[in-house]
Amino acid sequence: MFIELVDLLRCPNPHEDTWLVAQMDRVEARQIMTGTIGCPICSAEYPVREGIVYFSEHAPRMAWRDPSDQDAMRLAAALELTEPRTIAVLHGAWGAHATIVRGLSPSRLLLVNPPEGVEAGDGISIVLAEVAPFASASANAVAMDAAASSAMRASLRRALQPRGRMLAPLDVGMPEDLTELVRDGEVWVAEAPAGVVSPPIQPLRRRS
Ligand SMILES: [Zn+2]
Repeated sequence: MFIELVDLLRCPNPHEDTWLVAQMDRVEARQIMTGTIGCPICSAEYPVREGIVYFSEHAPRMAWRDPSDQDAMRLAAALELTEPRTIAVLHGAWGAHATIVRGLSPSRLLLVNPPEGVEAGDGISIVLAEVAPFASASANAVAMDAAASSAMRASLRRALQPRGRMLAPLDVGMPEDLTELVRDGEVWVAEAPAGVVSPPIQPLRRRS
């Protein structure tokens, strides 16, 4: 987990929204490789192993799949991943292409339940979770996999910023407040409405 992205993590347990506290046991190139992400409200502790944050030990994860240049280019173009400040959430199978996307784009990638074998590091952060454990309006772009549960879909929509872009396979229903921009034979791309101002990001707190 990239240290700068700890700010946008949120505890998935039902209680008021708060930032989480990172205890870092091993850090490499600004990635927390080993440690714990703790919730100051409910005291839940989420382990970080091999750079991956385990919000759930039972999150669905598919088998390894080969990355595709075509899918990576589609993600980078459709989600407008041109800026280093951009944060893109890639859910499920889309995470397979993360390394190639990073070769095309300076944007930071946050993978939710990527296929087995996909590794964190070099701008790629990974969480395993039942619902996307992110602050509201914290992601500039979201790619949603067909395997998303309804709770996962709702949490991914919540994480998308105003005017942010979402992409998903055609058989995934588009959140009704989004506006479709384009579709091809496989995916739709849509934009979130402007309007709701994103909440201020809480200051980063760390436990030594
Ligand atoms: Zn909590």
